[in-house]
Amino acid sequence: SHDVHIIGGGLAGCEAAWQLAQAGAKVRLSEMRGSGEMTPAHQTDGLAELVCSNSFRSDDDTKNAVGLLHYEMRALDSLVMRAGKAARVPAGSAMAVDRDVFSAEVEKALGQHPNITIVRERVDHLPDSGLTIVATGPLTAEALAGSIVQATGSDRLAFFDAIAPIVHRDSIDMSKVWIQSRWNKTTEASNEGGDYINCPMNEEQYRAFHKGLMEGEKTEFKQWEKDTPYFDGCMPIEVMAERGWETLRYGPMKGVGLDNPFDTTPEFPQGRWPYAVVQLRQDNKLGTLWNMVGFQTKLKYAAQIELFRTIPGLENAEFARLGGLHRNTFLNSPEVLDRQLRLKAAPHIRFAGQVTGCEGYVESAAIGLVAGLMTAAELAGRAWQPLPPTTALGALLSHITGDAEAASFQPMNVNFGLFPPLHDVGKKVRKEAYTTRAKADLGQWIAAHRTPLPA
Ligand code: FAD
Repeated sequence: SHDVHIIGGGLAGCEAAWQLAQAGAKVRLSEMRGSGEMTPAHQTDGLAELVCSNSFRSDDDTKNAVGLLHYEMRALDSLVMRAGKAARVPAGSAMAVDRDVFSAEVEKALGQHPNITIVRERVDHLPDSGLTIVATGPLTAEALAGSIVQATGSDRLAFFDAIAPIVHRDSIDMSKVWIQSRWNKTTEASNEGGDYINCPMNEEQYRAFHKGLMEGEKTEFKQWEKDTPYFDGCMPIEVMAERGWETLRYGPMKGVGLDNPFDTTPEFPQGRWPYAVVQLRQDNKLGTLWNMVGFQTKLKYAAQIELFRTIPGLENAEFARLGGLHRNTFLNSPEVLDRQLRLKAAPHIRFAGQVTGCEGYVESAAIGLVAGLMTAAELAGRAWQPLPPTTALGALLSHITGDAEAASFQPMNVNFGLFPPLHDVGKKVRKEAYTTRAKADLGQWIAAHRTPLPA
């Protein structure tokens, strides 16, 4: 018998199991690999297998958001961080690991834990009762995915193949762009007189940009991805560009209904419509992140940065996330989960990991860690004390459980754009100010709220 059933022995499920077991709870951890099942990306039966790169990205906890997440996870005794340390390989300021050693370390720690039973089995239905954490990842097996769709409503489980880049608002040169909605159609929610940041292009700039799209280096599909069709309204921009050099100008880059204040004439005192335009739309409630509308792409990362920095106003753009293309399953978490990662329709079920709409190994493990702590509190009959939104854990959690716009929700890496802004701090020292604030606030939270389960 067990207190909590965790489904999925990946990054998130393993971290959640560890946190719960350390808090005294009995855990059943179900992992389908090892029972004759496999996902399209995994290669082994090992728990917490890293399917692609071997990097946990920057380990700089003073100036980098993912480095800060490392720090916070260590402060909460993360198993993924412990195993990462044991498996670490040299990679400059990044934290990279030997993936086999890493997986073995995780498996050893969980396998030896008296409170954990690892079962190699595929789970096909969401359990009707009992505290459950679903951490089955972006490649959740078919039958369970169907059961999740049933519980959430069929449009709630998104499959996507192309995502658009997201830019930090404070890296946009606002002297070259303007804010306006097409035809001045604003809504009550509008701010600063419009909903879009508009980056205008003349004919020469547009032609050069189109050429760059056609020539830029693209990511090739993996064999198992080739059958995945493009979704309507989600076509990569370079695929659209291939259809003719003006297609974009009549599509996502059309300038109609937008008055370019940098191009006024006596006839058009408000400004003429630009030849072409790149529009950005606010992506989070804080207004710190803006996504490039219609710019989903499978250009290689380096090619994206080079080309998109030729767009007027984006010369120094910093990207919170670049565009990308891979098959993925995730929940529309801001809509279907409560602030504690519980399914609103069935609150005995919590979700964790990439399936909640975070992106990346570290983020997935981090959300697993938080789900474990929340479940431990619930088991102990303690009210959950929310993590400070100024911490990386709290900021990421807030984003996926309500602060992101549900209508355009897409998987997200941790980044400072998710944090409550520090307007009064100079740009040069802002990142350090974010991490200093986070560490202090997390320290207080741990001192006040992190008590183990009664024995
Ligand atoms: P996973 O680590 O995938 O764990 C889910 C586990 O659940 C798996 O072990 C799976 O076998 C199991 N499972 C699934 N369904 C069932 C079921 N019905 N019953 C029982 N068990 C089940 N992130 C990075 O940071 N760097 C990268 O390079 C990177 N590359 C990626 C490449 C691909 C192709 C994909 C799909 C994702 C990639 N990611 C990458 C994103 C993400 O970080 C990883 O997917 C990460 O492993 C997510 O952690 P997770 O715990 O949510 O899911």
